[in-house]
Amino acid sequence: MTNIAIIGSGPSGCYIADMLAKKLKDAQVDVFDRLPTPFGLVRAGVAPAHQGTKNIVRQLERTFARENVRFVGNVHIGTDITYQELKDNYDVVAVTIGAVKDRVLGIPGDQLEGIYGSGEFVAWYNGHPDKADLQPKLDGSGIAIIGNGNVALDIARVIAKTPSELSSSDITANAAAAIKEAPVQDIYLIGRRGPLEASFTNMELSEFAELESCVTLVDPDQIPAALPDDFDPRSANTVNQNLETLRAYSANSADSKPIRLHIMFCASPVEISETDGHVSGLKLEKNRMVEGRAESTGEYFELDVQTVISAIGYQSEPIEGMPFDHSRSIVSNEDGRVEQNVYTSGWCKRGPQGVIPANRAEAMTVAKQIISDLDANSEASTKPGFDQIAALLDKRHVRSVSYADWQIINNAEIERAEGDKPREKFTRVDEMLALLD
Ligand SMILES: Cc1cc2nc3c(=O)[nH]c(=O)nc-3n(C[C@H](O)[C@H](O)[C@H](O)COP(=O)(O)OP(=O)(O)OC[C@H]3O[C@@H](n4cnc5c(N)ncnc54)[C@H](O)[C@@H]3O)c2cc1C
Repeated sequence: MTNIAIIGSGPSGCYIADMLAKKLKDAQVDVFDRLPTPFGLVRAGVAPAHQGTKNIVRQLERTFARENVRFVGNVHIGTDITYQELKDNYDVVAVTIGAVKDRVLGIPGDQLEGIYGSGEFVAWYNGHPDKADLQPKLDGSGIAIIGNGNVALDIARVIAKTPSELSSSDITANAAAAIKEAPVQDIYLIGRRGPLEASFTNMELSEFAELESCVTLVDPDQIPAALPDDFDPRSANTVNQNLETLRAYSANSADSKPIRLHIMFCASPVEISETDGHVSGLKLEKNRMVEGRAESTGEYFELDVQTVISAIGYQSEPIEGMPFDHSRSIVSNEDGRVEQNVYTSGWCKRGPQGVIPANRAEAMTVAKQIISDLDANSEASTKPGFDQIAALLDKRHVRSVSYADWQIINNAEIERAEGDKPREKFTRVDEMLALLD
């Protein structure tokens, strides 16, 4: 039997597990996750109201229905079990740990209370146990969100939505209550570059037109009349649609709804001001675009904000002993190969870019590589696999969570949901484990 360990049960881990379990009938595939809950950012990243996107879980669930796939939740590789122990006990290890650590803004004032990375803010409203106690400061009228991608849009939308617009989402009750109470009037979404370079998709951008209480505003002078002749044809369609949507927003009237979302381009944050240790403003420098690059102009302006959320990208966190490229904050690899018998895929392999289907394509390639390397190796497996790991977990008093255990947690979340909510997530590991004993 070939014993395969996968670290991380996000889409990348599930896709690799599925392919290997399907193609290698004599293999046992064990998918470890540090949380008792599977599916990575599908649960803890994707916007709580985007239940259609979260339905991808139906597909991922099928992986764990396979007889030769085991979920081993609540086991942190690097803490509960070392990377070396995994390599010692498995013929193949695939690392799919994602990338959720926030990059920092790196400007004066960025450590003040009231400043959050998008990773932690999103984790908070999505019920990730790491950020259950974040309680972000949302007591001012102005919020700045730095970033021009879909994550920045997700955050703006969640904050701008009314309780009824969130009622059929799986946002945690705690986060929904905090957002309901927040006296926010102005949300500023700030991009360093222009609308041609913004990485929003049009579906995400257009959703703002339908919000009950929030009007979206854009300075018409910031929207180019047309794409330049040499614009990349691969993104021309999306960007043209975005320009059209932005033009429609630029005609909106600022006082038509109680909350205003200001989409601002060509500005870089330079300093966060404080009053008594709290954020009291954000100073920005205007940029001009030169051949797709943002150049500073030496002109500054200030926004009256009390909370700043930076959505400027994520990085992976190294696991002790695992080859790690610190300059790119990814697991070191060459086309998915990390070292002998170790592979990687997903956000920790290529950096935090790409939607869920992109991980599937990459996982398929890496799984094929694993199968071809196994075929080329004529030595029989001598690695003991999970039995040895189970003994170590026992000795270390780590309560691992099986897929059947997860289903108990899952059902309890669904059962305790009120109204139209699909589930009320447990946000603490202890609460989840208490259901199992
Ligand atoms: C805010 C946000 C919104 C998004 N919205 C969408 C969307 O609407 N549609 C879309 O298609 N894509 C969306 N994406 C992108 C999508 O979530 C990613 O493409 C995808 O989740 C990446 O998958 P992954 O498996 O590489 O990483 P992840 O999904 O991050 O999974 C990694 C897993 O590894 C586990 N792990 C980490 N370290 C360890 C360790 N040491 N030991 C054990 N386990 C570990 C984690 O707990 C996690 O379960 C969004 C991303 C973000 C951040």
